[in-house]
Amino acid sequence: MNTYLTPGFQDSKIEERKVRKTKINPDKDLLLARAILENEEELLKKNLDGQQKYSAGEKYNKIRNKPNSSTPGTNVGKTPESSTDKRILGKKNMHISINEQIVSKKSSNKSFVYRMNSSFSKESPVKKQRATKEANLPSINNKTSDASQPDGLVRKKAGKPSKAENDSRITKSRDGRKRQRDKSALNNSKTQYNIELQKLKQAGDLRWTPKLCVDIPMSIERIKFSQSAYENDNKWNYRIMGKEDYQRREQIKKLESTSQTQVVYDSLDKSPFYTDSNPYIDDKKLLEAKKNSGFVNPNINPRGYRRQKGITGIPNKDKIYTSLNPYYILENEEDTTLVFESRFESGNLKRAVKIEDYEYDLILRNDYNSQGYTQWFYFRVTNTRSDKKYLFNIYHFYKPESIYNEGMRPLIYSKKKEAKEGVGWMRIGEDICYYQNTTKRKSGSGFLYSLSFSFDLPFNDDEVYFCHHYPYTYRDCKEFLDNLCTDSRREERVSQKDRIRKTEICKSLAGNSLDLAIITNFLSSEQDISQRDAVIITGRVHPGESNSSFIVEGILEYLVSDEVEAIQLREKYVFKIIPMLNPDGVILGNYRCSLSGQDLNRQWIAATSRVFPEIYNMKLMFKKTLESRRIFMYVDVHGHSRKNNCFMYGCSNKASDKKNYEKIFPMRFSELHPTFSFEDCSFNVQKDRETTGRVFVRREYNILNSFTLESSFLGASKGIYQDTHFTPEQLKDVGRAFCKTLNDIENPKIKASMLKKLSS
Ligand SMILES: [Zn+2]
Repeated sequence: MNTYLTPGFQDSKIEERKVRKTKINPDKDLLLARAILENEEELLKKNLDGQQKYSAGEKYNKIRNKPNSSTPGTNVGKTPESSTDKRILGKKNMHISINEQIVSKKSSNKSFVYRMNSSFSKESPVKKQRATKEANLPSINNKTSDASQPDGLVRKKAGKPSKAENDSRITKSRDGRKRQRDKSALNNSKTQYNIELQKLKQAGDLRWTPKLCVDIPMSIERIKFSQSAYENDNKWNYRIMGKEDYQRREQIKKLESTSQTQVVYDSLDKSPFYTDSNPYIDDKKLLEAKKNSGFVNPNINPRGYRRQKGITGIPNKDKIYTSLNPYYILENEEDTTLVFESRFESGNLKRAVKIEDYEYDLILRNDYNSQGYTQWFYFRVTNTRSDKKYLFNIYHFYKPESIYNEGMRPLIYSKKKEAKEGVGWMRIGEDICYYQNTTKRKSGSGFLYSLSFSFDLPFNDDEVYFCHHYPYTYRDCKEFLDNLCTDSRREERVSQKDRIRKTEICKSLAGNSLDLAIITNFLSSEQDISQRDAVIITGRVHPGESNSSFIVEGILEYLVSDEVEAIQLREKYVFKIIPMLNPDGVILGNYRCSLSGQDLNRQWIAATSRVFPEIYNMKLMFKKTLESRRIFMYVDVHGHSRKNNCFMYGCSNKASDKKNYEKIFPMRFSELHPTFSFEDCSFNVQKDRETTGRVFVRREYNILNSFTLESSFLGASKGIYQDTHFTPEQLKDVGRAFCKTLNDIENPKIKASMLKKLSS
């Protein structure tokens, strides 16, 4: 007997199995994924948009007294035994028998229709789907003068002037030459726009266009980094400047005249270096993406404060541009000022102030709609000099402690270094120090913190990126999943649908998709599949913890591989993996929150579909999964900013016959991976953690193996990787070790030896 079963299931297990032999509950996610990959457009039309998608729209529509565009009520009533089902049944494919049974079961199973409602969009689902498909195809068709683009983006009519412009033009219409000048300028900008758009399309940057839902400019450019990183990049172990030195320096700066300082970058304010004829933000470069079909929070304010009640009018569209002009314009060739930029996906830098020739104060942006959570930074500088020592003071971190004081060094990526020496991300910096500064927190008492470090840059006139941790964006995740579903490692892209399928569980608050990958052996009989337990894994609920994405990538890659253990795992479990639980936060460059301005991992008890659709739909997924199978394990993957190593947080267990059972997995993990530390694990539940995913899932669904898997932003403090920083490859390896551990712990011998170890 499987002793890992949670208490509630244990007794009824045998009976349950008997029942299952005759009755099979449809696993909705599985069915959905199956439909998608087998191009069952009709099923999609009916089920994906009509019934199965967990949509957040309905409630909001009701609130706004807006009738649902796609006549929701009728859908619900019509569901069973509609003509669509018959069409599906008539279609031939290898899973026809499974579909048949599930679909026919569906007809009589009312609970199957558990979706909230259809989407917001007025378009028909099929049309929408087609548009999305088209948007995903990089087109080489140059018809950019059309207002309606083949990529699904409606370009703002760049050629057409606004009403004000039009009026002024009428008054000047007698002046033929002026009109001609206007016209040629217009044509120029049109051409410029078309060229940029074409380049973006060819580079594939218009695939998976992110949605922002905030009134701030962002460039669509997608920055791709080479995967190479320095192996064994050591921690720093020397320092000349300490906390007191930097704090004194800050005091002096405050006392001195500020006339020397100059704002050289601001991500929100207007640049003073431009004129009306030479606009800073050129609206002719605006990509007006399709209107967001998701919920738009009327309280969202780009500057991070809640609007007064009753004030609405937030644009339901994004300000995404083909390109953006730099804030600062160099005066001449001798001007050594660094040119900053952070208005790209996942970027975070609010402002840069030049203090001296080579010293800059950098101010971070709060998480949107919040008054804090600043910890993630990601920006680029150009116009570098290789023979100078720079000093950066990054301001307004909110955490009182950081492993920057224990040897962590900031990451940089030099384009020239990569091109010439093949070196990607690397660690730099001397005199690295994290310390309390003199700025008070906006919310409540206490102060904020700063990070200062000096460094040399390798090349003149280079393009250099600075980041808190290896960046991993929403589009990186989309691309990775796409490649995984059609195995790109082989020469011809072979579909992997025998082992992985993906679907979308819902849209985020801003309207970005939350992808769900389902992994199991899909070639097994439906009877076999229905007997498998589920393992649910989520990543990136905290957007600034990009380490989580690399671990999840390692898990996904391993699970679909041809390794013996992977094959065994696919026979044993149905994996449901959501690699990015908070896409909005990732896109906006937040550290901890979603677009709602709240930490999603504190909303599990009372998540509403209106404000927290991500968590609301996760809970729905848990419930629906439990209707068709047991859940053996839930793991939420995080990054940790104060401790070293990888480790897990679990939930204590009081059942006398299951003593230490929750510790078996972490114990085995520590044996299989050198960076995993059992000593760092904790199984106590603190009061303030009760609303987290791990604790909620343990208590609500009675799942004993409910964990968060944490990995340090720094590295390991023991074993072969001691005193070096984690690299993306090592983090992926943690993911692989996770899978091997999972495969091991059902082995009675291993389990017994773990229990023996734990009780001693
Ligand atoms: Zn976290």
